[in-house]
Amino acid sequence: MSLDNTPHPSCKHCADTVSARYVHGRPETELVPSRYALKVGAIDVMVVSDGVLSLPGAMLGHNVDPAVRAAWLADMFLPPDVLEWALNAVVVRSGGRTILVDAGMGEEFPDLPRSGKLAQRLEDAGIDPGSVTDVVLTHMHMDHCGGLLADGVKERLRPDLRVHVAAAEAEFWEAPDFSRVSMPPGFPDALRRTGKRFLKEFSSQLRTFENEYEVAPGVIVQRTGGHTPGHSVVRLASGGDRLTFAGDAVFQVGFEHPDWFNGFEHDPEEAARVRVRLLRELAANRESLVATHLSFPSVCHVAVDGDVFRWVPGPWEY
Ligand SMILES: [Zn+2]
Repeated sequence: MSLDNTPHPSCKHCADTVSARYVHGRPETELVPSRYALKVGAIDVMVVSDGVLSLPGAMLGHNVDPAVRAAWLADMFLPPDVLEWALNAVVVRSGGRTILVDAGMGEEFPDLPRSGKLAQRLEDAGIDPGSVTDVVLTHMHMDHCGGLLADGVKERLRPDLRVHVAAAEAEFWEAPDFSRVSMPPGFPDALRRTGKRFLKEFSSQLRTFENEYEVAPGVIVQRTGGHTPGHSVVRLASGGDRLTFAGDAVFQVGFEHPDWFNGFEHDPEEAARVRVRLLRELAANRESLVATHLSFPSVCHVAVDGDVFRWVPGPWEY
């Protein structure tokens, strides 16, 4: 096999070459890993990638001296300007229910063409949208709920689908406050538009909760606030195993610099408090962590390293 023919995710030229083979239809097999299955006790978990988001590096810490931020990115072998953020969703099966946690970007923002792959990748994984009994939204940013608004998706969902979201989140998107965020141009408008549209199109499926709700045996959605007022995490527990899907409470930089404000946080101080509290807890009870924007498949552990945290990626178990 020639290395010249091996697609590399960070090599746009190679990626284009690969897609060009399939310009007249969707590829039969994607040459990238996009799903990863694991067990948490009796609960089945599958991390599914929606693709990647190309976003400015400044989004990782807008309250930080740009030179300090640039030094961190260089230390991490990351480019200084535009980064590829992973975009992970999770399918959980427990007690006869099939739960989709977050739904990816869909077609909400055409400038992010490397995302919005969830529908295709669920199909490739043999998961029929009609088999999903519940959707849990960690929050209603477009990269988490947009996938349900994509063309042709809603018609394939069950009429009795339940969409769980914190009451504070649904309320927030009626009149969202963007005064504390630091996003690239175009994002606030697109996020407002998507949030409003989601509330309207899924109003009859919405099941709101105040602080927490047990969606299925061992699957509990818990409101944290911070990133958005109704931001929530999903805690899985079965047979002594535990895993938390942290949504946007933790970004890659958040282990070493939990106090760096992410540009998408609507209440950055509270988001940093939530992050520290959650990372401390995960380090203490040694449970697994999966998060939306940690590099796919993102299954990892959290260690305490002096005053900060350390990201400990899990072994690839295949
Ligand atoms: Zn996000």
